[in-house]
Amino acid sequence: MNNIQCQSVYRGRFAPSPTGPLHFGSMVAAVGSYLDAKSQGGQWLLRMEDLDPPRVVAGAADNILRTLEAFGLGWDGETMWQSRRGKAYQAALDELRRQSLVYPCNCSRREISDSSLGSPSGLVYPGLCRHGLRGGRNEHALRVLTHDEPVIFVDRLQGEISQHIEREVGDFVLRRADDLVAYQLAVVVDDGEQQITDVVRGADILDSTPRQIYLQQLLGLPLPNYLHLPVALNEAGEKLSKQTLAAPVDANRPVETLMQVLLFLGQHPPPDLAIEGVERMLTWAVTHWDVNNIQRCRMLEKQGGG
Ligand code: GLU
Repeated sequence: MNNIQCQSVYRGRFAPSPTGPLHFGSMVAAVGSYLDAKSQGGQWLLRMEDLDPPRVVAGAADNILRTLEAFGLGWDGETMWQSRRGKAYQAALDELRRQSLVYPCNCSRREISDSSLGSPSGLVYPGLCRHGLRGGRNEHALRVLTHDEPVIFVDRLQGEISQHIEREVGDFVLRRADDLVAYQLAVVVDDGEQQITDVVRGADILDSTPRQIYLQQLLGLPLPNYLHLPVALNEAGEKLSKQTLAAPVDANRPVETLMQVLLFLGQHPPPDLAIEGVERMLTWAVTHWDVNNIQRCRMLEKQGGG
């Protein structure tokens, strides 16, 4: 028997949306994914998720790149820009169409909410257009057919996750009525193209992961390992985000934020590590990175100001 083992090299990534500057919550994902990759001798790739032009803020992508540099978070290879990947997304849609798994849908939000039962993941699409478009509007989204077998995976931190996509989400959108490709499809095509072996990101996306695994299965793409980090909450218990007016991280004072991120991730940096500067802090953090120290929860309040 051939005993040669195919050792896959770890390839992680950080995939910010350039809708504004990085805040503490986004730095948790950036630093967590970086440390997990580097502690395993892996590569850490960068992808700008600038897929949705109305949400993209001018200058935000540059600002993100500069902030990552200020924190010493050097990425490997060229940055991937989703806005330049239209052909790849179209090819994936064509492949799913070829399998007769895609159908057009011209339901309005109102029609969906009126006929949906809803679930913890939000409104469930009840399949109104499954058997053909209904009268009225011409513009239509494209949805993928789902089924009621559960998608099950084991998250490295959150444990076993199971979702009945059809019952809990419904047939989901791959291309919106305004022709924009949906995040769920783009992320899967891009993780495939970048040969990502390990996805480390915030637990706010945990609910989407079964949809992404489902698409990976349909498209014959390899399934990465997943690790969903706790999402940082402010003192009011809200997720740090642009909407909750989270402060941008200060690229001129990376040491303090990096220290807070390491503590948030349950790591135990010695207090005098901060004197050493970001480069040395990161080196320490790579060497001592321990996923077992991260709190196993989906949300966690950020301690301290800022
Ligand atoms: N672009 C998404 C965000 O900034 C992250 C997507 C992902 O990591 O899969 O929240």
